[in-house]
Amino acid sequence: MNRKAIYPGTFDPVTYGHLDIIKRASGLYDKVIVAVAYSVEKNPFFSAHERVGMLQEATKSMENVFVESFKGLVVDFAKENASKVVLRGIRMISDFDYEFQMALTNRKLAQEVETVFMMPNEKYSYLSSKLIKEVASLGADISSFVPAKVEKKLKERFKK
Ligand code: ADP
Repeated sequence: MNRKAIYPGTFDPVTYGHLDIIKRASGLYDKVIVAVAYSVEKNPFFSAHERVGMLQEATKSMENVFVESFKGLVVDFAKENASKVVLRGIRMISDFDYEFQMALTNRKLAQEVETVFMMPNEKYSYLSSKLIKEVASLGADISSFVPAKVEKKLKERFKK
């Protein structure tokens, strides 16, 4: 059986929280596709190309993990990749409302696609890309939140 899952998100940029979920998923599924949404409406800080590059670098030791960008609906991307599973991370109860609505909407759009929720190690449960960007812009040490290459990229961007 070829069990595939897609893990969609903006990943602007990837954090140790995302990587914790990816690692767990890579042990559960034969193939995990990290699906980087263009998310134009969110006006991302990094381009989709940059976000994919940072994820590829951070996941290069995980042989069954692949990173791709996509436009459009998550369920369409799942179907195109013959994946029945959409993974999402739940950090805290505050994530639940939105994730629950989105999972049920996606189920309505595509009955055959199932949303699976995973929890990260609790030490990452407070991490968000948004807050990391905020504190990085003010010069904080973010080395315990993101891989070194991501930290470097953030620092370079904020220097400009
Ligand atoms: P989106 O714009 O789709 O919410 P994100 O990049 O913010 O994209 O998040 C992608 C997924 O990863 C979401 O399911 C989100 O809840 C989850 N996630 C974000 N940060 C963490 C974290 N620190 N630990 C676990 N899951 C996380």
